[in-house]
Amino acid sequence: MGSTIYDYDLVTIGAGSGGVRASRLAAGYGARVAVIEESRVGGTCVIRGCVPKKLLVYGAHFAEDFADASGYGWTVGQAQFDWGRLIDNKDAEIDRLESVYGRILREAGCEVIDGRARLADPHTVEVDGRVLTAERILIATGGRPHMPAIPGIEHAISSNEALGLAKLPSKMAIVGGGYIAVEFAGIFRALGARVTLILRGDTVLRGFDQDVRTALAGEMVRKGIDLRCESIVRGIEKCEGGVSLRLAGGDLLEVDTVLYATGRVPNTEGIGLAEAGVALDAKGAVVVDEWARTSVPHIHAVGDVTDRINLTPVALNEGRCFAETVYNANPMRMDYENVPSAVFSNPPIGSVGLTEAQARARHGKLDVYVSRFKPMRHTLSKRDERSLMKLIVERAGQRVVGCHMVGPDAPEIVQGFAVALKCGATKQQFDATVGIHPTAAEEFVTMRDALPDPE
Ligand code: NDP
Repeated sequence: MGSTIYDYDLVTIGAGSGGVRASRLAAGYGARVAVIEESRVGGTCVIRGCVPKKLLVYGAHFAEDFADASGYGWTVGQAQFDWGRLIDNKDAEIDRLESVYGRILREAGCEVIDGRARLADPHTVEVDGRVLTAERILIATGGRPHMPAIPGIEHAISSNEALGLAKLPSKMAIVGGGYIAVEFAGIFRALGARVTLILRGDTVLRGFDQDVRTALAGEMVRKGIDLRCESIVRGIEKCEGGVSLRLAGGDLLEVDTVLYATGRVPNTEGIGLAEAGVALDAKGAVVVDEWARTSVPHIHAVGDVTDRINLTPVALNEGRCFAETVYNANPMRMDYENVPSAVFSNPPIGSVGLTEAQARARHGKLDVYVSRFKPMRHTLSKRDERSLMKLIVERAGQRVVGCHMVGPDAPEIVQGFAVALKCGATKQQFDATVGIHPTAAEEFVTMRDALPDPE
């Protein structure tokens, strides 16, 4: 396989989700592969993203679970929470996963090299003085938090630090209204912090279905989050006990911790991409075609560094498609239609397909089904939390083109319905499916009355 004039058939830069998947499959198909990682094997998802975040989401949710237990007859003593123990246990789990990922790569036959890589020319990578030549290079360097250049931004933390704070914040500001902002707002609020969420848009989660956005914002406010929409931070200053945020309009907000969750940017600086002739877009992301090829034919890129759909399972799929195409003579392209996603807010969101606005623009007439209800669990717990479920059906062909939920287990539920959308299921096929009773999920197969058409 490959050409012997190079040290390796493939050098992968970045051992995150995309890089690891591509490299181990390529090695399994016989390629000589080196993977270079400057930080920790596992990348954003495993080390400083999805996995540690989800562990904190689980940890935080116990606060509500203890409170809810009393309606079911339980008397729970004074519950005590130890942030340090949660962080230590989470860190131990991340260490374990990091070593599992390293082992997977090595057992697949990849050489794992610790250090920062830089392209010296289109076939040569330098790592801390060592020179490696490769027939092909895969850029899988991911992304990092974007911190806007406002005065005092150095006093703010990003999601990287929020996952390992030495002390649980008691009064916190979170800036941004996207996935990361709402997830951390849910975690820290449930753990007892006073949380102010400051966002420049009209409500949280731009890009999601409007009913979903409104429902989540309402639940967040009900849980005591101070939601400040259409609000901008002008500057941050140190003050006694923390930092003071100066908002447009003159308001000051004093908190002990300020977290910025204002998007992420691709890691494309200082690795010699421009010099090697790899084209970047205006945001600095690597431009690729549908086969993960950059402007240099033997240099490829997958995952967040290409800034398409920045989700772990998408990077995994892109990595797999690359390895299958190049090293297994099995041409595969990632299909970006109906990619489901979840937001692990409190309550969480699961979503697949089009929003109502997107569906109207694409299909014209729709049948829209919406259900709002109190989850059965909260009848006895008396918790004031409501769920939302929404199906969007294109009227002419009756295909379900959008499926959205806000409520407990929404990500688990919507994963299954994503298969139905991928198969092009119709509303009649949903209706012909027998519900599982009593569940929230059955609502998706028992929605009978479409909303009246909008004026
Ligand atoms: P998002 O792009 O989701 O949200 C960024 C937020 O920051 C938006 O509300 C945006 O406002 C706001 N913003 C951007 N720039 C500024 C600024 N200069 N000043 C004030 N506000 C600003 O980014 P996240 O950081 O939340 O997450 C990054 C990506 O990571 C996500 O897009 C997603 O792909 C992935 N992710 C996925 C998760 C999951 O699947 N559960 C969890 C976490 C991350 P506006 O809307 O007005 O532009």
